Amino acid sequence: MDIKKDVLDHAKKCYDNGLTIGTSGNVSLKDGHVMYITPSALPYNEMIESDILKVDIETGDVLEGERKASSETSMHRYIYMKDTDIKAIVHTHSTYATVFACAQIPIPPVHYTIADIGREVPVAPYALFGSEKLAENAVNTLGDNNGVLLANHGVVSVGSSLKDAYRRAETIEEVAHLSFGSYVLNSVQPLSNEELDDVEKGFESYVSG
Ligand SMILES: [Zn+2]
Repeated sequence: MDIKKDVLDHAKKCYDNGLTIGTSGNVSLKDGHVMYITPSALPYNEMIESDILKVDIETGDVLEGERKASSETSMHRYIYMKDTDIKAIVHTHSTYATVFACAQIPIPPVHYTIADIGREVPVAPYALFGSEKLAENAVNTLGDNNGVLLANHGVVSVGSSLKDAYRRAETIEEVAHLSFGSYVLNSVQPLSNEELDDVEKGFESYVSG
């Protein structure tokens, strides 16, 4: 598969499906010691394959591409360096997930689909966008989860493919929306650890829930 096309297609999917607005958010895919990432400050509907940058994960050097790399390039690099099983990252400011990030409240497991992400979606402490501190906070809070909120900023999801990382970005937004509604109705009813264990077992026998 053409890697740049895969990155571009998923970046556009984030935009088309309302997970990103304007130029916010970014998408990357790892291939060996390099990653392919969307550029900074370019509207998604104007983006073409040659705009996707090839970046050395260890050094951060841009190996291919004329555009400026995404402001969150170091966060993507740190995540890949910390967990070598992660091959793809989607970062957005999707509305309901970001409401929880701004309130600094983890997204609770009110819907079973959250088991694809973890027991909740935790909140990484606030740090300036684009900073190494933000990258560090995101990596440390992510742990074994497949998604993490960035306080007062947005959300990151990861996977072994862009398909997985993208699906998780959608799931987090959906569960955040449902959790928001539960808070509004003043009746947040998280699933128990035992119930989530059963969901995980169910997921092992079905590819998607
Ligand atoms: Zn961001």
